[in-house]
Amino acid sequence: MSSTREYEACPRRYRFGYVEKRPKDRPVPPSWRFGTVVHAALEAAWKAAMDAPVDVPVSAHLDAALAALDVALAAEGLEDERARAVDVVTRALEVDAVRDGAVDHDADLPLPRPVGVEEALRGRIDQEHRIIGFVDLVLERPDGVIELVDHKVTSRRATPDELHDDFQLNLYGRLARARFRDATGIVATHHYPTGPESVSVRLDEAEMARAEQRVRDAARAIAQDSEFTPVPAEGCRHCPWQPSCPEGTAWVETHGA
Ligand code: SF4
Repeated sequence: MSSTREYEACPRRYRFGYVEKRPKDRPVPPSWRFGTVVHAALEAAWKAAMDAPVDVPVSAHLDAALAALDVALAAEGLEDERARAVDVVTRALEVDAVRDGAVDHDADLPLPRPVGVEEALRGRIDQEHRIIGFVDLVLERPDGVIELVDHKVTSRRATPDELHDDFQLNLYGRLARARFRDATGIVATHHYPTGPESVSVRLDEAEMARAEQRVRDAARAIAQDSEFTPVPAEGCRHCPWQPSCPEGTAWVETHGA
């Protein structure tokens, strides 16, 4: 589904990444790599939580999270960031803003249950084309609502309206609808481990259907495209192939790096 957004923003960038599978000209920025290591730690903790009774807090799996964190720090060459990463992960697990936000503290209900971590949600466009997306965490709330959680290691917070209209979350929601057929509703959540805090919104069926249609339209356009015309714009600043794209390089030089 990120391929749809990539194609819509710049067909040439899509061609570089998804058709030619070109190695990136520029390294991934350190801030993204920091997000990767925090993700790895949270993933390990929630995987352990899936095998534990639902009332065991996720912070009980801090050791598993820190072990995964150390592996990821070494893989990303970010050992110098260990203290900050440990602090973010420890507080994120202790506060557990995801489950805390979903719970009515006056009701005597069990906690939401993790039912998927790095969960692959799949769909089919036609005989040849499939849709696949990975959700960081899937929770089943006691009322049967399925909650799709995206860990966002960023300083920017989305508003509920932004979440409601978010293409990727709506597409995830559509795929989750097909996967969890008994769900009483689909909720999308951005979890911000650096807060820690979270923002949630209930997705609506029409918006989820629109997201799926958008993927189908993009797939049709890609199948008929032989030019993959570049569309220089703001995204060129962070495009990993900008050094080998004359139009993108010219745009950045004209508009200031
Ligand atoms: S640099 Fe800009 S125009 Fe070139 S491929 Fe990347 S996004 Fe597209």
